[in-house]
Amino acid sequence: MSSLVRPLRIILLGAPGAGKGTQTTRLLKRFPKVQSLSTGDVLRSQIAAGTRIGKEASDHIKQGALIPDTTMVGLVMSQLEQLKWLDPKASWLLDGFPRTYKQAIALDHSLDQNDCRLNMVVELDVDQKVILDRIEARWVHVPSGRVYNIDYNPPKVPFKDDITGEPLTKRSDDTAEVFQRRLDQYNKEIEPIKKFYSNKGVLYKVSGDTSDIIYPKLEALVLEKFG
Ligand code: ATP
Ligand code: MG
Repeated sequence: MSSLVRPLRIILLGAPGAGKGTQTTRLLKRFPKVQSLSTGDVLRSQIAAGTRIGKEASDHIKQGALIPDTTMVGLVMSQLEQLKWLDPKASWLLDGFPRTYKQAIALDHSLDQNDCRLNMVVELDVDQKVILDRIEARWVHVPSGRVYNIDYNPPKVPFKDDITGEPLTKRSDDTAEVFQRRLDQYNKEIEPIKKFYSNKGVLYKVSGDTSDIIYPKLEALVLEKFG
């Protein structure tokens, strides 16, 4: 099993429900040296812990709106330092950030200063009609961020996390109405972000309607460039 020959600094872009979390889990299993951070998971644990950021985030999330850029940029920058991701030798994957052009610029600036530029940005391209059809079947294990789909990717024991056996829950923002708003929001913000990364020559796209179709393409892409 080949591993990575140079550090991987990768971002997954994709509509809500496109399967960023699922692809992350699989990539990390295949490439254990890579660390990951999901801003959605970070925010959900801050909410669960009742922190100041959690309190600020909770209303925005419930309404399917984005958390303000200054809060998000501050949060991610401090995580990058804590996790030691600004070391050029580190390999990591960021899921859920950047979500706006401003966030992309802020991230780029900080990585540039530390000589650890992004070297791969992958758009997970899934038909949004397919996403809408399957979203109400999504259940999550909040502490780990593990994601299940009752129809396509069910847990071994119904409504229990495979690893810990703890109960799965529904995200309050996975209802049809809030979800449509999140999709609209994504479609509104994504074009300038894609343009920014495509100008830098790091943007790739993998298409497919299920995570099982997307994953082998994503793994092959990573191995082609970094294996
Ligand atoms: P999925 O979990 O299917 O990938 P998603 O990408 O919409 O869907 P999360 O990444 O879990 O969901 O994020 C959930 C919510 O957290 C978002 O709807 C938004 O309110 C907030 N959020 C997460 N990341 C950011 C960010 N970078 N900027 C602003 N808000 C964010
Ligand atoms: Mg997610």
